[in-house]
Amino acid sequence: MRAFKAVVAGAGLAGATAARLLAEKGIRTLVVEKLRHVAGHCHDYRNEAGITIHTYGPHIFHTTDKAVWEFVQRFSSFRNYQHRVLSYAEGQFFTFPINADTINQAFGLTLPVQETAAFLAEQAAKASVPQPPRNFRDAIVAQVGERLYSLFFEHYTRKQWGRDPSLLSDELASRIPVRANRDDRYFADPYQGIPEHGYTAMVEAMLDHPLISVMLGADWFELKEDLDPDLTVYTGLLDRMFDFRHGRLEYRSLDLVFRTLDMERYQPAAVVNYPNDYDWTRITEFKYFLDEKSPRTTICIEYPKPEGEPFYIVPDQNNTERRARYMEEAARLEATGRWLFIGRLAEYRYYNMDQVISAAMKKLAARC
Ligand SMILES: Cc1cc2nc3c(=O)[nH]c(=O)nc-3n(C[C@H](O)[C@H](O)[C@H](O)COP(=O)(O)OP(=O)(O)OC[C@H]3O[C@@H](n4cnc5c(N)ncnc54)[C@H](O)[C@@H]3O)c2cc1C
Repeated sequence: MRAFKAVVAGAGLAGATAARLLAEKGIRTLVVEKLRHVAGHCHDYRNEAGITIHTYGPHIFHTTDKAVWEFVQRFSSFRNYQHRVLSYAEGQFFTFPINADTINQAFGLTLPVQETAAFLAEQAAKASVPQPPRNFRDAIVAQVGERLYSLFFEHYTRKQWGRDPSLLSDELASRIPVRANRDDRYFADPYQGIPEHGYTAMVEAMLDHPLISVMLGADWFELKEDLDPDLTVYTGLLDRMFDFRHGRLEYRSLDLVFRTLDMERYQPAAVVNYPNDYDWTRITEFKYFLDEKSPRTTICIEYPKPEGEPFYIVPDQNNTERRARYMEEAARLEATGRWLFIGRLAEYRYYNMDQVISAAMKKLAARC
């Protein structure tokens, strides 16, 4: 297989971006994907009710990075979609993430927006957490105080991660905005949307290049002895690459239960979180994303679980230390100029889609 100067293991967004950029540099590239479809975790398909389903849970494209936005526009048009989430707690729907309206509702107040920041600061000060906060619990309490922490985060986090919030990294908290204004969008990024024909079609378009060949249903580990490329871009599991020699990197998984119902609308927003009630964490109603019309609707109920398909990295101390050891090994391979490790699995990082694309762009630009 010397015909290929580059081999990419994995046809998710990391692999597809890398393959496209290599091909556009004139490099003949083979993409090896162990599943029978491309797009990895952002895979989607249209179901019998005419609704586009995100196979691995809801995916909303959002970015502040203009170069990434321009890159994806080359492969799909996007529907302008602003994501909104509600949180169901104490028998009511609250706007989430927390904004001025959430605060008024939770405390039974009618504070003007200008007073929200001071109110939050007062709540946080009452809670007295160590500064700087060193875990997820303290980082959230330091922003919003005990009442809002317990209403929206404490139990949700236990369900989601299967451990006490004080055992999780404070970095997770940086992913959750808290707003002192009335902006009720989940993301405030300037570029947001959903690919009009789906993520799978977008990734297929990225891979549609005369210098790219795609092999589906093939595990790279089973083929690697027969491949001798100048460059391998690896987007699979980081620990597997090194025979798990420093121990396994842990992931949280999800049971996703899909139901198609004979009703036009199931819930008042695309995603509703259930922080305190029930065993599930959230329910997604997919037809919101592309404003699809159907007399039926499809929902997805998420039940977190400790094992299965690797969904979320677990950012506790053990995994952080293990990751550092593996990343040193990956860096040694990358230094040879013949390897790149890119993506949520290969870097064991919580990456959004745009961050994966950006990482691939940067690594390829430095290499080619
Ligand atoms: C529930 C959930 C919701 C999310 N929501 C959002 C969102 O709203 N917005 C957002 O920006 N991001 C979201 N994300 C993150 C997003 O899914 C990822 O950032 C992105 O899809 C990761 O792309 P990737 O290519 O790094 O990994 P993947 O998509 O996992 O692709 C890796 C590919 O490599 C293949 N592979 C692995 N090992 C091998 C091997 N040995 N041989 C061959 N192939 C192999 C896999 O089968 C897979 O297809 C969400 C993630 C989850 C879990």
